[in-house]
Amino acid sequence: MKIYNTLSRKEDEFVPIEKGKVKMYCCGPTVYDYIHIGNLRTFIFYDILRRVFEHFGYEVEQVINLTDVDDKIIKNSRERKLSREEYTGAYTRFFFEDIEKVRIKPATVYPKATDNIDKMVEIIDVLLEKGFAYKTEDGIYYDISKFKDYGKLSGVKAGEGMSRIKADEYDKLAASDFALWKFWDESDGDIFWDKGIEKGRPGWHIECSAMSNRFLGDTIDIHSGAVDLIFPHHENEIAQSEAYTGKKFVNYWVHAEHLLVDGRKMSKSLHNFYTLRDLERLGFDPVSFRLMCLDTNYREKLNFTMDSLRRYEKTLNDINVSFKLLQKLEETDDSSIDGSIDESYSKFESALADNLNIPSALSQFFKLIEEANRCIAKGRVGKAEKRQLIGRLNDMNGILDILDKEEAGQEISRLAEERRKLRMKLDWSRADELRREVEEKGYSIVDMEGGDYVLVKRRRYISQG
Ligand code: AMP
Ligand code: ZN
Repeated sequence: MKIYNTLSRKEDEFVPIEKGKVKMYCCGPTVYDYIHIGNLRTFIFYDILRRVFEHFGYEVEQVINLTDVDDKIIKNSRERKLSREEYTGAYTRFFFEDIEKVRIKPATVYPKATDNIDKMVEIIDVLLEKGFAYKTEDGIYYDISKFKDYGKLSGVKAGEGMSRIKADEYDKLAASDFALWKFWDESDGDIFWDKGIEKGRPGWHIECSAMSNRFLGDTIDIHSGAVDLIFPHHENEIAQSEAYTGKKFVNYWVHAEHLLVDGRKMSKSLHNFYTLRDLERLGFDPVSFRLMCLDTNYREKLNFTMDSLRRYEKTLNDINVSFKLLQKLEETDDSSIDGSIDESYSKFESALADNLNIPSALSQFFKLIEEANRCIAKGRVGKAEKRQLIGRLNDMNGILDILDKEEAGQEISRLAEERRKLRMKLDWSRADELRREVEEKGYSIVDMEGGDYVLVKRRRYISQG
């Protein structure tokens, strides 16, 4: 399997440290607000990354951290007169709700930064001892001029007369010494740790070095994030981790491109800032957003527009209708398998192995859906062919995860069945009433030839029948 490595600046063949295993660290959310759909694109990518390795038989250990202390968290929680725990606890719950809605599989562990302060202090002590860090009046800083490989990931080099930066968010272009530990001052209120070094709190970068080391060890296979994290965050993580252990930190650095809205950076001031909750309020199925993300290569920018999301919603609906109809389709003994099902599946797998070319893999899924549609149009399908089509679509869905999961409940099924009987009696008006009742309960009835029908989840932008 080939994967683009930001460190080598080319596609590398993936070779795990330990046979059959992948140790993967993915930079998670800062839990100070709802995540936006840009963050979500990256988190969906992490999910795909992990599923692809699992698909090829690897056992994946995936760590996604929660940054629950930083400048913004301290400022906002104090302004709102909430404890840090209350404030970040709420947004952590919202984060888990959002990722579940787009079908992100749970990571192996979601460590919180604040549960790992001891490890951070241990690393900082070693860095001080080895001469990579120094103390000032307001904190402990990393001296990037001491780390000879500084810049190997991003190409941003450490120069002479380094400036010093204490804030978590800062200049994205200039290399600077950065804070490992910030000493307490009054603006921090009661948010500090007193753990053998001066009372204070960690800088942002040290959190990831500490959690990666604690949960996955000195050297890991993959570290991932969106492209904005290459510099300074990941560059600084390398400097900290490699100075601490004396070993290579990460073999493959994998970075996903950003999501744009209407061709521009998403920002609150441009009023083009969306959360998943906003899309749901507009009536969209969160899985449509997942499908949209899958259809753009992770190394390309994804331009989000409401119109394109509407098209994905329609596509998602069509796929699910076809899959349902296929399952109910009348079976015949003859078989017209021409090898195209296996061929599509093998192209699907090749696309996955080709640096996670998910749009290409998805196109093979669509090919099989078209195959199903041809059978649906004919009103029948060979028995073996049907089994094979359903099996392969399900296999592909193991990565894509876009097929509807929930089945209509008993009450809805009963109403739909009653409607079928009314239609047989040509009682159209009462049948229509029942159809509306089913729709109100969140399902659409799609009629098949001969009076049979399937129930599919109702999507707001789709009108059926
Ligand atoms: P944060 O909560 O800001 O630390 O970001 C969480 C993750 O989302 C990080 O991997 C970021 O690089 C990523 N991210 C931030 N903005 C965007 C965006 N517009 N598109 C895609 N990913 C983003
Ligand atoms: Zn990180």
